[in-house]
Amino acid sequence: MLNLRGGNYSGNQSKKEMKKHNFYAGPAILPKSVMRAAGKAVSNFHNSGLSILEISHRSKQVVSVMEESESLVRELLGVDDNYAVLFLQGGASSQFFMAAMNLLPADGKACYVDTGTWSTKAIKEAEKFGQVSVIASSKDKNYNYIPKRYRVPEDASYLHLTSNNTIFGTTHHWWPKTEVPFVCDMSSDIFSRPVDISRFGLIYSGAQKNLGPAGVTLVIVRKDLLGKVKRSIPTMLNYQTHIDKKSSFNTPPVFPIYVSMLTLRWIKDKGGVDAMAKRNKSKAGLLYREIDRNPLFQGTAAKKDRSWMNVTFLLNRPELEDKFLAACDAAGCIGVKGHRSVGGFRASIYNAMPRNSVKVLTEIMADFAEKEA
Ligand code: PMP
Repeated sequence: MLNLRGGNYSGNQSKKEMKKHNFYAGPAILPKSVMRAAGKAVSNFHNSGLSILEISHRSKQVVSVMEESESLVRELLGVDDNYAVLFLQGGASSQFFMAAMNLLPADGKACYVDTGTWSTKAIKEAEKFGQVSVIASSKDKNYNYIPKRYRVPEDASYLHLTSNNTIFGTTHHWWPKTEVPFVCDMSSDIFSRPVDISRFGLIYSGAQKNLGPAGVTLVIVRKDLLGKVKRSIPTMLNYQTHIDKKSSFNTPPVFPIYVSMLTLRWIKDKGGVDAMAKRNKSKAGLLYREIDRNPLFQGTAAKKDRSWMNVTFLLNRPELEDKFLAACDAAGCIGVKGHRSVGGFRASIYNAMPRNSVKVLTEIMADFAEKEA
């Protein structure tokens, strides 16, 4: 029986108790140990007799959480003092306009590569602040690949990239050759692999995939790029404000930052981003091999650009979609339905996703193909 093969369901368990394999795209799976520690902090934070939810952000304990979070980001990604590490609010979506507001002079030009929904939104916001040149796009094939062989004008203020396209299941496995600094939306693959920070002027990422719960946005910005635009920037939207006040100009989202800190500790404990990359490549390989082997399924993304985080695939017999989703559900695999822009299925397999959960999904696929043959 399929659900026994997954080792996660016995007839005596109620459906509620069945182990879930969480394939949601975000908010997404977090390490179990992080969840346990976060729960403890909600009832009694560091034996203070107070919950982390009710303790001042100016307290010694919270200041130390902010400091450790920053130092783990620096250590894990190799971020030096030329960069500021910030914990902001407003989601990655606010960075679409904040990046342009802070880095794009009114008479300047920014280049964007359009790789799908999120970069399209970033382009729309940047256009409010200066000239935006979309130098490459994969819209012609419903964003199923990463554009290559484009030229970046050397006078651009920055080149905006979305490193991993959560909806379309594509990733930059290489970076364009240019001296122009990258502004990069890493919302769905930050800490999943090493990156050469020196190529980036600004990195931003909502926490709710590889880092923690929704509510905090990690921003890494090269300090010398700031202060060059002449426009008046509202205080809260000015990166310099948050640099000067160490991300505590106003009340920071303490709990999401604390959970992010726990996840960063977990990443460090597991061997850092190199170890994450190895695990992620191998986990994704397991699933792509099944997609390519199984006559019922096909991947949607160009093979060279396939994401290690979001694996998108279709059934060759779309009339069986509901039945397949029901089979996933019966085995505890949740969140496998694809985004409406692509259809089919999407398995999000972030850092915290155990290899065994990916294996369970491949077994469901194999079993399903056998039954439907
Ligand atoms: N960029 C990417 C690549 C995303 O996947 C998402 C959310 N799924 C966003 C931006 C938007 O993030 P937020 O909801 O934090 O604004």
